[in-house]
Amino acid sequence: MIIDAHLHCTGREHTDEVLTALDDAEVDAAVLLAPFLSPPFQLNDPHSLRVANQHLANLVGGHEDRLIGFAVVNPLHEEAIDDLRHAIVDLGLRGLKLVPTGWYPYDERAHGIYESAALLGIPILFHSGIFIDGRSGRFCRPAFFEAVREHPDLRVTLAHLGWPWCDEANAVGVIDLINGVAPDESQFRFDISFGAPPVYRKSALNKALAVLTPELLQFGSDRFLPCSGEHIAEKIHEVDALFDDLELAPDARKRIMYGTAAAWLGIS
Ligand SMILES: [Zn+2]
Repeated sequence: MIIDAHLHCTGREHTDEVLTALDDAEVDAAVLLAPFLSPPFQLNDPHSLRVANQHLANLVGGHEDRLIGFAVVNPLHEEAIDDLRHAIVDLGLRGLKLVPTGWYPYDERAHGIYESAALLGIPILFHSGIFIDGRSGRFCRPAFFEAVREHPDLRVTLAHLGWPWCDEANAVGVIDLINGVAPDESQFRFDISFGAPPVYRKSALNKALAVLTPELLQFGSDRFLPCSGEHIAEKIHEVDALFDDLELAPDARKRIMYGTAAAWLGIS
């Protein structure tokens, strides 16, 4: 069983081809993110994000057993809380993706969104680490996400192991383990969609496994739809090869490929 907990929409994909790609990649369920990086969708255009969330709702409708839609909002927009509520309550989306850019994870506006997400009982996937726009990395340092702890009911994932601040990400995530919090109850888990260039991946994963344990790690391909199943499967094979290299036990692999995300999403 495999959950791909980080798969991007662009607005150009159709339900049938997404399901076929997942079948071909042998992925059982996927977290689909509303489009925000592909024109005409932009994080700084609230109208485009509303269209993006509606597109995603249409895409996943009727296939909620396999397609888990995550809305996107920008906390800087005045209507962001209303847009989030609409996306979850009216459109039926089931989580939230946030990219800190132009705002820090501890800003007051972000706390308003966290409060709403906690009330709605939804998980949040954060981009963390350096960002592809080459301008926003400073907003996405892992330690800044400690602000989430002011909302104890929130269960969030930090993407990319916080690359290049993987040590900082491990330090944030291990706190709950030190305090004896059960992994599924931890406020933080981390996806291993790699931000790191290949030469760093083995050591980054090795340290994350040692510090966070497989219980706080989950797989995400970070691929952009529409794409073939083969394109997604390449990412699965890439992590399989690292798991082989690190001699990871079968139970640990199952946890990373399915169990951690299933518990986070409430689909176990
Ligand atoms: Zn991504």
